[in-house]
Parts: sequence; structure tokens; C-alpha cells
Amino acid sequence: MFGTYPRTAKWREDVRLRMLGKKNALGHKYSPTEETLLKITAKTRGQKRSDATKEKMRQAALQRVKEGRHNFYNPDREQVSVGKRNDGTYLEWSRSIKRRDGWRCQLKDEACSKKVIAHHIKVWAKYPELRYEVTNGITLCTSHHPRTREKEKALEPILSTLVDAIMR
Ligand SMILES: [Zn+2]
Repeated sequence: MFGTYPRTAKWREDVRLRMLGKKNALGHKYSPTEETLLKITAKTRGQKRSDATKEKMRQAALQRVKEGRHNFYNPDREQVSVGKRNDGTYLEWSRSIKRRDGWRCQLKDEACSKKVIAHHIKVWAKYPELRYEVTNGITLCTSHHPRTREKEKALEPILSTLVDAIMR
């Protein structure tokens, strides 16, 4: 039969139930409706998971991490590693930038705040090879420090020029 046929609510629901847990053409899993979820919650509420079940869930989670499928798993974690900013090399880099710039924000104007930080001109996470390059750092005050990636990107050429001038 060709042409259009009405996609009734019942038809939709039938398809949904048939496809439940299976993947559609786009690879998305059909998910249960809210009603179904409530039913599942009502049925399982108060049930204790056995140790065997817990162990099974644990193993499944470990497997997901191994395969890089865990929600919080970031394969570039090592490159981002914010914690590494606390190490000695980082402190040393940050101090040498501020010393070079005379502990003053290099965008000096009336808007400046008192507290200064050493800013990475090229993003810390994206350019690990430039993390400890003195040419990739500039002293900024906390009010001039860009707070979004966009602003950071917009400032990049200006800051690069400033550092070029300082280093010359
Ligand atoms: Zn400033």
C-alpha cells in the first residue's frame, strides 16, 4: 500500500514497544516513556541488590572505563590535568612570567584589579608543549583575565604582540 496512512498514538506506542532496547537506524536506543520508568521504579523500590549484582555492575562500569565509554571518561585527561598546575614547574613558570612583567597586568588601565595571575596565551589544554614557555605567558590582573574561551581567543593576538614587544 502506498501513500500516507495515519500514524495514530496507538501505532506509535506499538512501534516503541517493539523497538524498546533495540537501536534504530541512527544507532539511538529507544528509551522507555516516563510511565514505564515509573512502573519500573515502583517495582524495584526497596529491593536490595545482591552482592553478586553489585559486583556485576562494578565490573560493567570498569569495562566501560576501559573502553572509554564511561560518562566521565576523558581520553585527553592527561593533557587537561588541572592538578598538574600545582606542581613546581608550573609555579616556577608563573613566577618568572610575573617577574618579567614587573608583577603588573600588561593590559594596564583603570579597570585593573590588584591581584595578578600568569595567563597562558595559547590554551593550556590544547598546547601542552607551550605550557612552560615564557613566550606563551603574560601577566594579567583578575579583572582583565578572560573568562570565556571566546574572549580568550579574541585576546590571543593582542597578548602575543605585547609579549613579543616585552621579549624584544
Ligand atoms: Zn588589568
